[in-house]
Amino acid sequence: MFRTSDVVYDVAIVGAGIIGANVAAYASKAGLNCLVLDQSVLGTGASRPSLGLFFPYGRSSEVRDYAYQSQHFYSRVSSEYKWRLDAIGICDANSFHDVRARFCIPIADEGCLEQSMVRESVGLEIVGLDEKACFRIADCHRALPYKIAEQLLFASGVQIWEGARVDGLREHAVGTEITLADGRSIVAGAVILATGPWLPESLDLMTEKVHGLRIKKVVAFHVDIEPSERASLVYFFDEDAFLMPDHQQKKWLFSITSDVWGVKPDSSTLVISSEDRIAAYAILDRYAPSMMSQMNSGRVFCDAYSADRIPLVRSVADRVIACGAANGSGYRLAPGIAAHAMSLAIGR
Ligand SMILES: Cc1cc2nc3c(=O)[nH]c(=O)nc-3n(C[C@H](O)[C@H](O)[C@H](O)COP(=O)(O)OP(=O)(O)OC[C@H]3O[C@@H](n4cnc5c(N)ncnc54)[C@H](O)[C@@H]3O)c2cc1C
Repeated sequence: MFRTSDVVYDVAIVGAGIIGANVAAYASKAGLNCLVLDQSVLGTGASRPSLGLFFPYGRSSEVRDYAYQSQHFYSRVSSEYKWRLDAIGICDANSFHDVRARFCIPIADEGCLEQSMVRESVGLEIVGLDEKACFRIADCHRALPYKIAEQLLFASGVQIWEGARVDGLREHAVGTEITLADGRSIVAGAVILATGPWLPESLDLMTEKVHGLRIKKVVAFHVDIEPSERASLVYFFDEDAFLMPDHQQKKWLFSITSDVWGVKPDSSTLVISSEDRIAAYAILDRYAPSMMSQMNSGRVFCDAYSADRIPLVRSVADRVIACGAANGSGYRLAPGIAAHAMSLAIGR
């Protein structure tokens, strides 16, 4: 074992994705001596392919709290990689009141935008809206999460070690000793594991099991139709899918919900399958059939999911905190998750 330095860091953050970067921002604000370790280069985990949609919504009060905190945090982040979005929600008229209650911001009572207004806002022929509630959603934005992560990390001034894979954690007199795959070791008073879809592997280092923590494939397609300048995002709540205008790339992004569980965060095995394409066609056929023939490419990776769909933020050993499992919403919830993780780490 090589001795790295005599420095004992206040906090070591394992994982430089959007959640680790948010934790670093809080650690720096608290004046802590902080080191961020990533096995790869910045922004190569789930945060790289992420569509970066933020909207102030949560199925449970816990998730709404995270979304609410994130909304405030992001409202203060200005970036060339973050864009405000007009957005329209669509759900079955009978479920409108339930959907509406899950927002952190008020949604108009009626939930009844005229179909022509939906088409005008989206700038596309959207069909299948009979018996549907269509409503405007405020405070949405999209971002490039890996760029926001870089921005937060660089602004925080924390030390960042890329190519530093953590493969051991053990108790130490003044905190935790972290061993790296390259044979070095360092000591930190608190450790925050923010390793995204690698979280189960990280917990194995602590021989800690979290019941129901699973990794699921996440898929989105690219539709080669240029969105109009003011095109709104459209979220299909019944299908948990959305169409997002990407003005920079001059295309639409179409996120669907995959049901493929138990995958590994390994790009060589995660591919878009014919089942994914069939699932996407079924939704487009229902709402936007003119897009089907232009769905030529896409992106796929995976994310960590928790059993109760509430992100995991928990002490897994003395002053070792695991955080993540944001269930496909890690950009949306990262600031709230990071604030909670930091409060556990510094005991507030
Ligand atoms: C296609 C796609 C679309 C998505 N769209 C959205 C969206 O619109 N809105 C939204 O909110 N969310 C979205 N998500 C989910 C979101 O991207 C993730 O929840 C989020 O990026 C997770 O961030 P993270 O920081 O936890 O993990 P990651 O970004 O995966 O970062 C974890 C980091 O830990 C590092 N690491 C792992 N193990 C070790 C180790 N042992 N030692 C050192 N480093 C290690 C990895 O290299 C990686 O950089 C999407 C995801 C995908 C795949």
